[in-house]
Amino acid sequence: MRNENTSTNLTSCKSLSPTLSQRERAIAKVSPRNSNESNLVCAVDLGGTNLRAANIDRDGRVHERVKKSTPKSDNAEDIVSVIASAVRQCEAESEKRGGQVQAASVVVPGSVHAETGVVINAPNIPCLPGYKLGTALGNELGRRVLLENDANAAALGEIWQGAARGYRTIICLTLGTGVGGGIILDGKLWRGVDGTAGEIGHMSVEPFGGVKCKCGNFGCLEVYASATAVVRMTREQLAQHPSSRLYSIPSDQLTSEEVHRAAVEGDSLALEVFHSVGVHLGIAMASVVDIFNPEMIVVGGGVSAACDLFGGYAKEEVMKRAFPVPAQRCLITKAECGDDAGLLGAALLAFQKREPDFSHENAQKA
Ligand SMILES: [Zn+2]
Repeated sequence: MRNENTSTNLTSCKSLSPTLSQRERAIAKVSPRNSNESNLVCAVDLGGTNLRAANIDRDGRVHERVKKSTPKSDNAEDIVSVIASAVRQCEAESEKRGGQVQAASVVVPGSVHAETGVVINAPNIPCLPGYKLGTALGNELGRRVLLENDANAAALGEIWQGAARGYRTIICLTLGTGVGGGIILDGKLWRGVDGTAGEIGHMSVEPFGGVKCKCGNFGCLEVYASATAVVRMTREQLAQHPSSRLYSIPSDQLTSEEVHRAAVEGDSLALEVFHSVGVHLGIAMASVVDIFNPEMIVVGGGVSAACDLFGGYAKEEVMKRAFPVPAQRCLITKAECGDDAGLLGAALLAFQKREPDFSHENAQKA
């Protein structure tokens, strides 16, 4: 409560200009015009349900795309097979127009040890923890394959081609099924000693009686600011809001998108839920601002579509709780790369071959 000054350059969710995916990342159907378009990384985003692969050039343009279902298997080799198949399909597609895939880079929904290619944890793909995914993919494809955590890759994607272009110290929060975090300090991705850094979604934001999180802790940001949290909080309050338009939707059919639509139409329950999202997010952001003094916090993931509804409350909390200088400095901005953020970040890592500097300027030279 120490900051009385509310005049600030901290903006909640600046409105989006046409996104890069619309402007520059159209799927190229033409022959390569220059070496940048023929020199490609095949980036793969491995999700719990689907995996998406795409060929990406040095300018961040997305060329051929492939989508497959992630096998529901307890055998990690089945995951390796489907990733390898997607990469080979992308390679074959690029060759048709004279392009060449130089490297493969895979985004994983969990913590990975980037140097050894071992998956540390992956809550939605239970067969992967402890598995040497990087080595297995390397053997299968006959080339080195880079691995990165999905939220870290999204942060890299946003600093290379998205909302954080031109900045060097940013935090990226991805509000999806869970809440992911990525930390880039002075142009460098901060992975931590064990590769597990950036888990801002598991910062405790409720000291008393918090909801239990999948990680085992109680009161994590993730259980108040994810799409799952939006649905849970709405369900819990439905009985007190019989006039809500959400009241008639069967509980098992309620989605965060539906809650968002209701909020846009002025539904008081839905608005209350997004108010809660904003407050909890702001509590976490205030700590992030005090700890890292970032230039920008980028908010991505599906729930960020409702940023206009909760960003103002998050900003209020940051201004109330954080020190004035870093609070005023820090922009809070909606992500711009959408679902491609992780793919772009994975591609950037491969182009830079894990050179230590991922700043925009260096990315351009890569
Ligand atoms: Zn947690």
